[in-house]
Amino acid sequence: MATFTLSRTEHPTPADERAAIVAKPVFGANFTDHMALAIWRDGQGWADREIVGRRPFELHPGAATFHYGQEIFEGLKAFRQPDKGVAIFRPEKNAARFANSARRLAMAPLPEDDFVAAVTELVDLDRDWVPSPDGEQSLYLRPFEIASETLIGVRAAKEYTFCVIASPVGPYYPEPVTLWATPNYTRAAEGGTGAAKCGGNYAASLAAAGEAADHGCQQVIWLDGVEHRWVEECGTMNIMFVTAAGELVTPALTGTILDGVTRDSILALAPEHGLTPVQRRVAIDEVFDGVEQGTITEVFACGTAAVVTPVVGFAAPGVNGADRSFIVGAGTPGPISAAVRSHLLDIQYGRVEDTRGWLHHV
Ligand SMILES: *Cc1c(COP(=O)(O)O)cnc(C)c1O
Repeated sequence: MATFTLSRTEHPTPADERAAIVAKPVFGANFTDHMALAIWRDGQGWADREIVGRRPFELHPGAATFHYGQEIFEGLKAFRQPDKGVAIFRPEKNAARFANSARRLAMAPLPEDDFVAAVTELVDLDRDWVPSPDGEQSLYLRPFEIASETLIGVRAAKEYTFCVIASPVGPYYPEPVTLWATPNYTRAAEGGTGAAKCGGNYAASLAAAGEAADHGCQQVIWLDGVEHRWVEECGTMNIMFVTAAGELVTPALTGTILDGVTRDSILALAPEHGLTPVQRRVAIDEVFDGVEQGTITEVFACGTAAVVTPVVGFAAPGVNGADRSFIVGAGTPGPISAAVRSHLLDIQYGRVEDTRGWLHHV
């Protein structure tokens, strides 16, 4: 495993200032003192692996990432453990996904060992920035890669920059949400970039989020781009349905859905909650009928940032411009969603035994 050369910042945040930030972290507002970097050049491969004081990038305005959108990213967290140690949750899953995203965007895939080394060595150096578990606080890690070659001309770039920054976050208590079944937008198409974690997917989703707000919803439920019938995701998270028959149903990974680490983890935990995990196609009408008839008892979204977000209702276009609306259960978060959420957090914070080897101790 290649290690990252360390050049400590000469201007660390004063200890009392850092302590104040870490005691009350706000999502995405503050960053740790250092960042990891590596550069890929055509003919040379990955080089210049280093951890340095966090500083602004200097890029030529002609850098390809600004023009043709070659950008991918990841999101994962480090958690303070009961013995005061620190553990990162399943970083090798993010490393594999990051390399897959790179391949889809014709970018240089970072070796998975380098990804894990970068996040591990950054967290080790900035470990004082990992908050206490109180209020579900953690250190959020944001690895990303951009095309940094100066290039006005469309082709895959010949230079890429990899970077990891870190931000103490939380508490993030997710509010229950309602979802808008947009008739106007789709997130992904077969053969497109839906399974890659790239900034372009997010840019393309923002107009739909605005439409959801216009219909009194907090997020969009994404349907497939061909028939506009099959459920894919929700906002920027995966979606799951609890059925009265004791199943935990989630759309199968057909190539247009992001392979979430939280999704994968929850499917693995399902049997311990008396649920049979099922991955298959789910039609939106099945969802609406199911919540109306009570055969779907709970719905939730899942992802690293909020872990589990309860979905308490849906809205969809109706006749004569009026919206149809559907309420899940009693319109309040359900007990299984809460139990699954607590279970995952207990593993992440080391409060229960890590029988699956999901914690990467730093
Ligand atoms: C990141 C992401 C998710 C959730 O993935 P996790 O690994 O669980 O954080 C789901 N959908 C989309 C579109 C995403 O970008």
